[in-house]
Amino acid sequence: MTGPESTSDPFSNGHGFLPSTQAPAEVAPDALWLVFSGDKVLLGPELGLPNQRPGDSEGAVYLGQQSGRQVWGARLVGEAAQPFGLHRLRGLYGRVPDWLWLLGGYAYQIAEWDRTHRFCGNCGAHTLPDAAERVRRCPACGLSVYPRLAPAVMVLLTRRQEGRLQLLLCRSPQFPAGMYSANAGFVEPGESVEHAAHREMLEETNLDIANLRYFDSQPWPFPHSLMLAYSAEYAGGEIIPQPGEIEDARWFDEADLPALPGRASIARRLIESVVGPRAGD
Ligand SMILES: [Zn+2]
Repeated sequence: MTGPESTSDPFSNGHGFLPSTQAPAEVAPDALWLVFSGDKVLLGPELGLPNQRPGDSEGAVYLGQQSGRQVWGARLVGEAAQPFGLHRLRGLYGRVPDWLWLLGGYAYQIAEWDRTHRFCGNCGAHTLPDAAERVRRCPACGLSVYPRLAPAVMVLLTRRQEGRLQLLLCRSPQFPAGMYSANAGFVEPGESVEHAAHREMLEETNLDIANLRYFDSQPWPFPHSLMLAYSAEYAGGEIIPQPGEIEDARWFDEADLPALPGRASIARRLIESVVGPRAGD
């Protein structure tokens, strides 16, 4: 294998995307346009990207090249015009090619960052994009604003009970009915990822963990997380779900798991890395 092993970003493993901030002088006729309205992306009837910028869009930002074709992002101002329609990015996993789903996540993050940092947070002047790197700078006071990332840590806790493998899975109040997942939370300023893994598990479930082992990472552009996933072993404590954060947390036998997160998520890959492939989306 060459290159990074992760399959979860548009730059790796032959997904074919080369990011760039150096916008070409002219938009190519076969350019790919990722045009967003909120968290929805504009697609044609066959779920393909438009090759032209829709008339009622604004905020064009150059993103780079996908297999040699220019990629641009923009925001839709009005309604989608026929034959195009708006599709929630999260719901497109498995319905569009992986490169398109991953590119959509990247484009959404950059376009949202660009849209929400047009003005300087320090002095209020208009910021300007930099040609050499992905940053907006304030010409009045010199403030530089880079795209924001919020690292989050996920831990799948396991134990052996009378010879059987058990997984600790939790329910957040926002989850779809019946779904459980590995515990996750944001890394706080000044904290290592490993400390956050221990702290989050203790705060949210009252359990201690040991033998933390890194699994993989995944950008999660809703709106700007980077999820770092680990497995760990149970090291003591009785489950006490944190009110407001965790609706339910319990041990599940590997043979009797609840509904799991969808295949687009690193949570699903993390769980299947321990128990093997499971049926269902
Ligand atoms: Zn400023």
